[in-house]
Amino acid sequence: MAESVGDGKAHSIDTELVHSGRLGGDHAPFVNPPVVHASTVLFESVEQLHSKKARYVYGRRGTPTSDALASAISDLEGAEGTVITPSGLSAIAVALMAIVKAGDHLLVADNVYGPGRDICDRVLRRFGVDSTFYDPRIGAGIEALIRPNTSAVYLESPGSHTFEVADLPAIAEVAHRHGALVAVDNTWATGFFHKPLALGADLSILAATKYVVGHSDALVGTVSASGEALRKLRATHGDLGMWTGPDDMYLALRGLRTLAVRLRQHQESALRIARWLESRAEVSRVLYPALPTHPDYALWRRDFTGASGLMGVVLHPATPESVAALIDSLRLFAIGFSWGGFESLIVPTEIAHARSANPWQPEGPVIRLQIGLESPDDLIADLLAGFELLVPCEPPRAGIK
Ligand SMILES: *Cc1c(COP(=O)(O)O)cnc(C)c1O
Repeated sequence: MAESVGDGKAHSIDTELVHSGRLGGDHAPFVNPPVVHASTVLFESVEQLHSKKARYVYGRRGTPTSDALASAISDLEGAEGTVITPSGLSAIAVALMAIVKAGDHLLVADNVYGPGRDICDRVLRRFGVDSTFYDPRIGAGIEALIRPNTSAVYLESPGSHTFEVADLPAIAEVAHRHGALVAVDNTWATGFFHKPLALGADLSILAATKYVVGHSDALVGTVSASGEALRKLRATHGDLGMWTGPDDMYLALRGLRTLAVRLRQHQESALRIARWLESRAEVSRVLYPALPTHPDYALWRRDFTGASGLMGVVLHPATPESVAALIDSLRLFAIGFSWGGFESLIVPTEIAHARSANPWQPEGPVIRLQIGLESPDDLIADLLAGFELLVPCEPPRAGIK
């Protein structure tokens, strides 16, 4: 099995990211784990097959490749163990299925990843789990929504379109007092900038597809937990037959090795661009928790050690055609979903349909920027040229999204 740095000393997270997940035994001389393509695992004898002592019994039940990645992610998230799934969305599904059952009630933050919301609304509802969506800034007020059968809270902080930060310790305190578990989608910050499990969460979910893989070339999800939550998680993950291809697991581990340097640069460039955007006449607000003007800045300062490269920008009212022209004109920001790779991306934020607890009615058009690893000066020049195409118009009438 993979071990963390293993010398019994506390190390900085940079050091952990480089050394964690190294395999011992026969693999010890190699820096990287083998990419094991396996279904069948062979036994030496019937006795060995029955002994239950073998670490590896079947491809879907773990390989050296999955052990190395799971161990490294566990160190990143501060967890006892981690399961790996074929995508971030399947990680959300397995995390929730591990902790709810028919007849239960689930509380879901209104700003979670849209398809994650669909898991609750479509799949879990079909299996008799009722979901209530709540205002992401509810904090300890979540107590008013707890029912006798509330068994879990699922949240994402900050939300990856609207960037509200949750008061996780307050929510976890209420949830635990009522016997409910808390699952947090930690994709925006990753364990590098935010440790949900240390702040009271029971499960921490990553779309490793984003910053962990970091190069826009693989889909991988992870869920990390400890104790009883981990036992439930592992059982459900195994029962559902979740498995991830070895090449993609390898890419995730390879990406993880440079997570610290990449995230620091994403943060530095994003902060610079966020401040520049705030100074622009075309911009109404920048949705980025590391800005002191963000309504959740104090919470972010308290619970996060940094900010990644994804932000929203609310523009002053401008014609839809001119906003599309701005987006189309950019040379360095490509139009595309996902984020967390080395390249800058832009998408129009169109999420009003995916809110139910508190409506999303921004004062103007909204775009989402993923600030990549290009020079921030070049990115600013790109945006500046695009802004010249904006054609101001009347504000939207109240009630129109
Ligand atoms: C992208 C994303 C997911 C889903 O990840 P996939 O690997 O694309 O399935 C989950 N949560 C958040 C916050 C995301 O941004």
